[in-house]
Amino acid sequence: NATLSAADPEIAAQIENEVNRQHEGLEMIASENFVSRAVLEAAGTVFTNKYAEGYPGKRYYGGCEFADVVEDLARSRAKKLFGAEHVNVQPHSGSQANAATCMTLLTPGDTILGLDLAHGGHLTHGHKLNFSGKLYKIAGYQVSKDTETVDYDELEAQAERERPKMIIGGGSAYPRQFDFPRLRAIADKVGAYLMVDMAHFAGLVAGGAHPSPIPHAHVVTTTTHKTLRGPRAGMILCGQEFAAGIDRSVFPGQQGGPLMHIIAAKAVAFKEALQPEFAQYATQTVTNAKVLAEAIAEKGFRIVSGGTDTHLMLVDVFQKGMLGSEAEHALGEAGITVNKNAIPYDTNPPMKPSGIRIGTPALTTRGMKEAEMLVIAGWIVRALEQRSDPAALAKIRGEVLELAEQFPLYEYLRAQA
Ligand code: PLP
Repeated sequence: NATLSAADPEIAAQIENEVNRQHEGLEMIASENFVSRAVLEAAGTVFTNKYAEGYPGKRYYGGCEFADVVEDLARSRAKKLFGAEHVNVQPHSGSQANAATCMTLLTPGDTILGLDLAHGGHLTHGHKLNFSGKLYKIAGYQVSKDTETVDYDELEAQAERERPKMIIGGGSAYPRQFDFPRLRAIADKVGAYLMVDMAHFAGLVAGGAHPSPIPHAHVVTTTTHKTLRGPRAGMILCGQEFAAGIDRSVFPGQQGGPLMHIIAAKAVAFKEALQPEFAQYATQTVTNAKVLAEAIAEKGFRIVSGGTDTHLMLVDVFQKGMLGSEAEHALGEAGITVNKNAIPYDTNPPMKPSGIRIGTPALTTRGMKEAEMLVIAGWIVRALEQRSDPAALAKIRGEVLELAEQFPLYEYLRAQA
């Protein structure tokens, strides 16, 4: 019955360090967020001990009566949240949700038309080193050079040439909304399925701050840990016609036992997302991103596609004489966490790309609004301009800490330490 700190002080110390790191800095990685105390508590429960292969009412193990209630609650809440006919809450991650969807809709060798990684797509949408690129023929689409957004006429012409079996909408570094009705019309025209991977903007959809892909896509996949603010995992939503196929592809197709502790945490997060405050959160996240992007642009940095409609933006730092890797490092020294990112038609390599990706979901969870975004935009630009001056970066880090202290995070965890 030893506590973690008694049983394993090395790991306990790193968890304590991480709690402090998350509290003391400004988390601006677009794919990250801070789960509530309730979600965190559910994730750290004895459901981690339970095998529950199968689905509620049809398990391959005994003792699943409480697991069944949890998974049924997670499913019914997710269906209500997104207005979906069927949902599978078992994928361990977004990648596994995408793999299960490909397994359901495609045969190896079929063609996938997804947004190129270098233009904002995700590895699972057809990277050559990923399962998607190894099992399927990949025809990536790109954003147009002028607008840095998807040109749907181009995409339609490409779909007619390539005849994909599946088109994928969604991505990891695309700051604009996808046109779901148009994507579906293109898919229908060429006899393809439409899969939308809403991992990044699922929370915005849940909160009504972004159009929903559910009425348009054959299958929608997502992670649950980004804007949706649940535990680190995945989920698949679809109509009844694909329900049995999707369920079979998740288990036994891709996975064995579901992570019941994580499914419990998903259920809690979905309940939170069904509350009116979550709609405010989603709207504020987008407002914050717009305000931040405009303020950074006003200070002379180029924002890819000229702005954002979502929770994230790409800043072209190369135009200002630095690499994304240098910018990421300088901001890190100033207490602001972002990630280096390729920009469309990047002439620099992926580890030293021309841009950085910045997102507002985590800071919005902390309660920050427009006023804080304006201050943070000033710090970001100062840190980038003074990137070779350690004293200047340390000074910003001090100011960042003062702001962080005004928006405390996981106080109860820090009090325990
Ligand atoms: N899909 C998109 C659009 C993503 O951005 C990500 C994560 O970065 C994933 C899928 C994969 O999620 P995971 O990291 O849970 O496998």
